Amino acid sequence: MTDPQRRRQYLAELGIPLWLPRHDGLLSTAAVEAPTPAPASDPALLPAVPEPVAAAPDPVAADSPLDRDIAPLDADWEPCLDVGVDIDVELDIDVDRDVNDDAPHPAPLSRAARIATLDWTALEAEVRQCQSCGLCTTRTQTVFGVGDRQARWLVIGEAPGADEDRQGEPFVGRAGKLLNPMLQAIGLRREQVYIANILKCRPPDNRDPTPDEATTCRPFLERQIALLQPRIILAVGRIAAQNLLATDTPIGKLRGRIHRLGPARIPLVVTYHPAYLLRSPREKRKAWDDLRLARRALANPAATP
Ligand code: SF4
Repeated sequence: MTDPQRRRQYLAELGIPLWLPRHDGLLSTAAVEAPTPAPASDPALLPAVPEPVAAAPDPVAADSPLDRDIAPLDADWEPCLDVGVDIDVELDIDVDRDVNDDAPHPAPLSRAARIATLDWTALEAEVRQCQSCGLCTTRTQTVFGVGDRQARWLVIGEAPGADEDRQGEPFVGRAGKLLNPMLQAIGLRREQVYIANILKCRPPDNRDPTPDEATTCRPFLERQIALLQPRIILAVGRIAAQNLLATDTPIGKLRGRIHRLGPARIPLVVTYHPAYLLRSPREKRKAWDDLRLARRALANPAATP
């Protein structure tokens, strides 16, 4: 047995990987095997290991085409027992990091922007479970809206009252019973229009909606309008008119003219709330005038009073 062969046998018995001599400035493929820690042994029990000698190039290793891909070492021989070779490769990998962390994330949609993407079914479901303002804690149920979703007429009131809160439908109490004949007076059945409110939940004791409540609930109504694309809007009562037109002008001064709502410039006419007309029946004449004005605005969208 030659010295190199004997040497290899010793090292194999010790479990120490072999480092081979460099050939032509290249490291043999065996040299890239990661050295394993030497077993904790009593040196006295270890077999004697010959000093490395300048051996003849290993013809097998020298012929390996893989050699050409391996970086050269500085020394002809690396010490075979120098198992202290640093094999701790620091991998610059954060294992806790999600592999997709570096991928661009789409910016989250704002609540209003997300609502503006919903269809009727999703919108109604969103309203039903809405807890975006304090009215969710006092409502019996939400009052989404009712009517023909292809309607040309959109009637917008203020907020659900006690009857609406109980039944889940707008304009079903005494005021609602007056709205129906008002619509019939201009040739419309209730089923032919769409009816909604500024707020989808009843304010306690029928108080006026706060500005915050109206603002928070507004995306729902705006989406209803976008989906419906009405040809005429009838704003019923002071609260509805002032909220839609973003003004505090008294209702008496908002009546009698055709307003335009939003980028689509939908004609909008203001009239009294039926609840007010129940208390002030002499004003019904003015409400009748408002309805006829709305009917004219629908027939002639370019008309101005
Ligand atoms: S009033 Fe509108 S914003 Fe407030 S909880 Fe009801 S649906 Fe949501």
